[in-house]
Amino acid sequence: MPLPLGDAYDYAAPEGLPLEPGDFVKVPLGPRQAIGVVWDKPLQETESGVSDEKLKAVLHRLPAPPMPPENRRLVEWISNYTLAPPGAVLRMAMSVPAALEPEKPRIAYALSEPIPDIRMTAARERVLSLLKDIPSLATADIVRETGVSAGVVKGLVQADALQAVVLPPDNRFATPDPECPGPDLSDAQADAVDALREAGDGFAVTLLDGVTGAGKTEVYFEAIADALRRGKQALVLLPEIALSAQWLDRFEARFGARPAEWHSDLSQRQRRKTWRSIAEGEVRVVVGARSALFLPYPELGLIVVDEEHESAFKQEDGVAYHARDMAIVRAQIGAFPILLASATPSLETVTNAESGRYTRLCLPTRHGSASLPDIQLLDLREDPPERQSWISPTLRDALADTLASGSQSLLFLNRRGYAPLTLCRACGHRLQCPNCTAWLVEHRFSARLQCHHCGYAGRKPDACGVCETKDSFVACGPGVERLAEEVMNFLPDARLCIATSDSIHRPSEAAAFVAQVLEGDIDIIVGTQIVAKGHHFPNLTLVGVVDADLGLSGGDLRAAERTYQLLHQVSGRAGRDDKPGRVVLQTYHPDHPVMIALAEGDRDGFLAAEAVARHAGGWPPFGRLAALIVSGNDGDAVAQTARDLAHGAPTGERVRVLGPAPAPLALLRGRHRWRLLLKVDRGISIQDVLRDWLPRIPVPNPVRVHVDIDPHSFL
Ligand code: ADP
Ligand code: ZN
Repeated sequence: MPLPLGDAYDYAAPEGLPLEPGDFVKVPLGPRQAIGVVWDKPLQETESGVSDEKLKAVLHRLPAPPMPPENRRLVEWISNYTLAPPGAVLRMAMSVPAALEPEKPRIAYALSEPIPDIRMTAARERVLSLLKDIPSLATADIVRETGVSAGVVKGLVQADALQAVVLPPDNRFATPDPECPGPDLSDAQADAVDALREAGDGFAVTLLDGVTGAGKTEVYFEAIADALRRGKQALVLLPEIALSAQWLDRFEARFGARPAEWHSDLSQRQRRKTWRSIAEGEVRVVVGARSALFLPYPELGLIVVDEEHESAFKQEDGVAYHARDMAIVRAQIGAFPILLASATPSLETVTNAESGRYTRLCLPTRHGSASLPDIQLLDLREDPPERQSWISPTLRDALADTLASGSQSLLFLNRRGYAPLTLCRACGHRLQCPNCTAWLVEHRFSARLQCHHCGYAGRKPDACGVCETKDSFVACGPGVERLAEEVMNFLPDARLCIATSDSIHRPSEAAAFVAQVLEGDIDIIVGTQIVAKGHHFPNLTLVGVVDADLGLSGGDLRAAERTYQLLHQVSGRAGRDDKPGRVVLQTYHPDHPVMIALAEGDRDGFLAAEAVARHAGGWPPFGRLAALIVSGNDGDAVAQTARDLAHGAPTGERVRVLGPAPAPLALLRGRHRWRLLLKVDRGISIQDVLRDWLPRIPVPNPVRVHVDIDPHSFL
């Protein structure tokens, strides 16, 4: 059952109902009915203890293709690895229950022949004349076209003036054609494609390593074409916003049809149709966010993980899993190849490539005449911005020059809103979220103070709640809205666009934004990380990073690595065509290894230094980590449970427990949070350690202990 249970439930198979593993079945569950999957074997060693006579019977089998065995093995594997109950993982693989039920027939109405003599009204007249030229229409369409009520249509049917017809199933998916002509590949691209062909169609992990704009996408398109020729389905995982119109257009240009999309913005109907068409093998290529991994492909033969280093692939809540890592598991279960593509691969992946577990294919230069941009470190101590502004004179000049030359610029700051902090000038009181350990962020365009963690939003109070001074609040620090204000002051004629997840969070909005930039309607983009990746804007030549140091602080193990990746990606937006690009990084730490590596283009040197540091401390990928997040509404009970966990913690030379300590986000959505970190040597099964440790510690009911294996967030 797709419920957070440790084991499968037992049901009797009624006589005359042959059942196979993977079949979806309706079963009684307490007072209600629920859908489950027939599993091959018990998930735990224990017997259920229900005698055969007492077993309830399966009600019926659902008319849907059974869950493929590979998906069942994946559910078991992820449950074992993440310690999440198998039913919780299964729920992710059964996210569209409606797709398992029989499809409702689609009914439309056509004119009867001949039309009987009926009482005419203006509304009836409109319907009949609409249908004169159209074979048939569904009620909803008739209503929309004519403005009459559904009752009018019903009346016409009862009067025999209209006839019901059953429509064939919904228009389905077009099939991508691998034989559509692709571009002529460069030598480096052709070599990479040949190497992939030689590697064959068995399980292998290949890292496609190439600078931004090197042409990695065209290379993996050829791998997809080969999978299609072999009669296989292919899956491309993209981090959230990269589900951009540009990628889909390129796919369509190469294959003559769009892939099926899978992300949170689909309607229930699209979801159902896509799920079903994948299960029936009709959809051949899927592009999606991490949850696309759990779709019921009967013939999957290739996975591509683009931007494999992206932390968006890690899910923190519920079942804490990393979609890139689980995609590798899925490829191994299905015995087919998987490609990881990135210009800034993660240290995990690079380490695996260096040890020979993964094959690495390199595309060292940008495609065609484009060259990598020139990256300049701007020392903010020597070239400071004016008071209450954030753009240094050098970057101002660069923006003005770029505008004058008719090219586009991107100003990058990874902070939404107007100001990250608002405080009372009189007493220093800071406006904080009532539910979280977080400051409220002022959003001036929507005239709201928002919490970026829980979604709390409110108006700015007229007076300070502590000292009661009126109009005493001041904005501290910049967000993108404030930066845009600054640019408008010194370049009043520039056409600006603020691009953040507030303004762009649906694929259609992303497409509109891309079209505006490509058509030259925008001179300067002021944006957060959502504009850092994937986009290809030929006329964009200047990238200004307002605060390059932003991601470096805080106790995150991957802070340096992530800053490098993000700034490299955003730099890669400049000069992607024949006009050369320029990047200005504003920093207070021009001597930091991340800044030096960025300026010198020395990615591998930076990664090597990171590896040495992590190796010395036994940090991933050279050691294993699991985070325990203890949370609940009662702060004392949470703290006590965290201490109890520490008391009963495993000991040993190769096992260490750090903490307990209040989490940096000590309050989140009203819940108190404490953290512990378990760190073990690579050779030790961290799951076994946890399976021995956790059941020994009593956890009072309202307190929750969440396990996050390979954590990426330490908040
Ligand atoms: P990456 O994925 O490595 O960042 P892309 O595949 O996006 O690079 O390629 C960058 C640009 O070069 C794109 O505009 C793409 O259309 C173009 N390009 C790549 N390979 C070719 C090719 N063989 N022929 C023509 N254009 C290409
Ligand atoms: Zn909050």
